[in-house]
Amino acid sequence: MHTYGELPCPKCAYARSGLEHTRRCPECAAPGFRGDLVVSGHPETHRESRWAGWFFSGAFQLAVPIGFGLTWWLGRNHALEEPIAILGIALFLVGIAIWLYGRHRRKSATRQGVSLEQIAWDFEPDGVRVREFDAERFIPYADIVKVWPALNFAFSRKARVTLELRSESLRGGQGYPTIMISGSFGEQRAAAEAIKQRIAEAKRAP
Ligand SMILES: [Zn+2]
Repeated sequence: MHTYGELPCPKCAYARSGLEHTRRCPECAAPGFRGDLVVSGHPETHRESRWAGWFFSGAFQLAVPIGFGLTWWLGRNHALEEPIAILGIALFLVGIAIWLYGRHRRKSATRQGVSLEQIAWDFEPDGVRVREFDAERFIPYADIVKVWPALNFAFSRKARVTLELRSESLRGGQGYPTIMISGSFGEQRAAAEAIKQRIAEAKRAP
């Protein structure tokens, strides 16, 4: 078996190092790993960043009519202008607060030695078991069209690997699975290469 990353329990982040791969998590009883290749990494956007993004886009959607349409539409100095502007600013500030909280949570987790790599791709004989926190989806190799590795070392210092799937397999609107691999540049490249090779092998097999 080949592994890349810290391989914590995807569900509860328990450090599984030293534990046999197939064993259940002693902390939350989530299943262990079964494939011949397992890669763990960060989600593309952390939870709080995603929530902050919703607030930012809400603030933006309010800012646009205030900046352009509202004065023209409602007339100058309309009573609604101020409350909408205040709401927009409030949404923006809440977004910033959530984003800062997320950064703080991740930093203190790292200080305490808690892994943030709660995404695991488990390459089983018939397909990839994608585990993201407590969610899980199984993707047969036949449904994978292409592997997109992008080594964005300058920007995030993490390699981003995305699986492009056949449109029929995009059930539930979950999109293409993506994992952000950390570690040294060489480790990231090795993990991305291992994913590509493993999928290519599985697709060549009868
Ligand atoms: Zn666990």
